[in-house]
Amino acid sequence: MGLAKQSSGYRATLSDTAQASIQSNSGIKEPDGFIPLCVPEIRGTEWQYLKECLDTNWVSSAGPFVNRFEKMVTDYVGTKYGVATVNGTAALHIALLVAGVKPDEEVLVSTMSFIAPANAIRYVGAWPVFIDADPAYWQMDVAKLDNFISKGCHWHNGELTNRATGRRVKAILPVHILGHPCDMNTIREVARKYSLTIIEDATESLGAQYQGEMVGHLGDVACFSFNGNKTITTGGGGMVVTDRWEWAERASYLTTQAKDDPLEYIHGEIGYNYRLTNVQAALGCAQMEQLERYIEAKLRIAGAYSYALGEVSGIITMMEAPWASSVSWLNTVLIEEKVFGTDSRGLLKHLASSNIQARPLWQPLHMSPAHKGAYSIDCPEAERLYLEALSLPSSVGLTKQDQGRVTAAIADAGKRQN
Ligand SMILES: *Cc1c(COP(=O)(O)O)cnc(C)c1O
Repeated sequence: MGLAKQSSGYRATLSDTAQASIQSNSGIKEPDGFIPLCVPEIRGTEWQYLKECLDTNWVSSAGPFVNRFEKMVTDYVGTKYGVATVNGTAALHIALLVAGVKPDEEVLVSTMSFIAPANAIRYVGAWPVFIDADPAYWQMDVAKLDNFISKGCHWHNGELTNRATGRRVKAILPVHILGHPCDMNTIREVARKYSLTIIEDATESLGAQYQGEMVGHLGDVACFSFNGNKTITTGGGGMVVTDRWEWAERASYLTTQAKDDPLEYIHGEIGYNYRLTNVQAALGCAQMEQLERYIEAKLRIAGAYSYALGEVSGIITMMEAPWASSVSWLNTVLIEEKVFGTDSRGLLKHLASSNIQARPLWQPLHMSPAHKGAYSIDCPEAERLYLEALSLPSSVGLTKQDQGRVTAAIADAGKRQN
């Protein structure tokens, strides 16, 4: 997700081009060095495990680290099975296929999300139906979801149909954004009542909990991403996790070109080359060993933002629902322009001029030109969040000093306007 710059402060090594591009920001001690939004933390056994791959020649999509990584993630999340994939988007594509979502069916999905889940829904020929965000915690608004199903849909012969489009509604795809879980009780209730499958997009929330249950183990199947900006990274990577053996088997089959005969190149159907490599999985194993420490760091950063920005009028920090245990993947604040004196984009520019990277939330998907053909309920809250929200530097390696610079720059931007 567009991390053009990376601070050398956290890097073991960078390519020459990357080194050159950050030259002016290099050096950990520089008081005004560049503070990136969210970069990886590579300080564990990554080198050792990568060396094992290279020394043993197991570099491709078979090898011991792939299974070990799948086991580490599923042990942690509590699911029975996990199938590693090349990235989180591929994991979503496969999850929709194994869940049996068919062309011209519909999937109810959060509009306030990165675009990947909606795209994956289109990959299988199905259509997203966009659901608004709730004003308090910014996740899928379950009251609006329930209202859409009971008023906007028609339940007949065990099938739910969207009255407006005439298409069958097959699944719910809640996206646990920014490290915080969706309110799952209502989602599970309507799913049970109307025979809908729950596909969790847990890509931003590894380690978060809903009423003590792990995110990724709250529905029928879930997806993780190990992209460079996620809590743990494999460079690029993802995983489909589920308790259903047949779905895991099918995920494994579809991600490896649907090969029926290992010798004769006989393929039962059109599959995909979506398997994670051993080299990437080696990174993943090293990163999983650090996950608890990373989450502690993220929570400490979130606490410090709440404390420091709680004093700044016009800035609202993200709240945690009473039923949630968030991992604060990406700390995001709302800017009330009238009180603060400038809007989120004004603050974004001010931070950029202080060499601090911030970013708005995603354009809500119901507004996206890429999904203009899809149905959506009214989504005023997502539209408001889009205008008011700004994500702040949240790397695991963010120092106290650098975080102090971020909060000081925000306070300064507010003062100047008032
Ligand atoms: C990161 C992310 C994904 C998957 O991303 P990949 O880059 O394909 O690994 C999917 N959904 C959301 C909400 C994400 O933030």
